[in-house]
Amino acid sequence: MVATLPASQDASVVYHLRAGEQQVPLNARIGTPISLEWSGAIACTHCGRATRKSFAQGYCYPCFKRLAQCDTCIMKPETCHFFQGTCREPEWGEKHCFQPHIVYLANSSGLKVGITRKTQMPTRWLDQGAIQALPILEVNTRQQSGLVEMLFKEQVSDRTNWRAMLKGEVEALDLVSERDRLLALLEGGLNQLRELHGSDAIRPLDEKPRSFQYPVEVFPRKVVSHNFDKQARVDGVLQGIKGQYLILDTGVINLRKFTGYEVTLT
Ligand SMILES: [Zn+2]
Repeated sequence: MVATLPASQDASVVYHLRAGEQQVPLNARIGTPISLEWSGAIACTHCGRATRKSFAQGYCYPCFKRLAQCDTCIMKPETCHFFQGTCREPEWGEKHCFQPHIVYLANSSGLKVGITRKTQMPTRWLDQGAIQALPILEVNTRQQSGLVEMLFKEQVSDRTNWRAMLKGEVEALDLVSERDRLLALLEGGLNQLRELHGSDAIRPLDEKPRSFQYPVEVFPRKVVSHNFDKQARVDGVLQGIKGQYLILDTGVINLRKFTGYEVTLT
């Protein structure tokens, strides 16, 4: 599922379903019955090979074991091992990890910290169902972003409570004052990182907070999940879309989890 920003600021995030070369618009389907049916086939999103099971949300087992993008250092960037000469794909690493990264604050189910490649904004926030986001620091590499995030995690979560996010029970926050509070609190640790990585390695940003609205007509009161692995067919009235979730009157489904699954939408 592809999420993009609306043309005007007070409109909702625009969702499409990727179907080969085509993109099927989803927002217009809200309020109507839909059904999704998985054929039983899964194609690796990297190499296209058929796989019986999906690893790391869309890869076949050989790709999962071989690709740098499936290595544990992607989830824990502070454990980057490029300099030990053990990066699975050094060229991929140079292209993706040795690029400017952003440390941000977001409000998905409350205050959280996160990191992303500069080019992945705002996609990352929309994928998390964040209603607000504020980039606060820019660093030179993915590893540095991980080190900064570790520091912030002493004070603030890096997780989204997806049930709370889906229920829409999220109060707006003053992200600018949260930023100022956290930067003051963590100044010592940030300066230590600057001593190790260069005085201009971690640069404060002075950006405006952004806010996002999602096309949801009815928020679920109780969150029940559909799962293609247990039931290949999912039916219900589409009541909204938030993050990577379709919200149906019969339950929610995380489409990211089923990347690579061959699904028919009717
Ligand atoms: Zn593969």
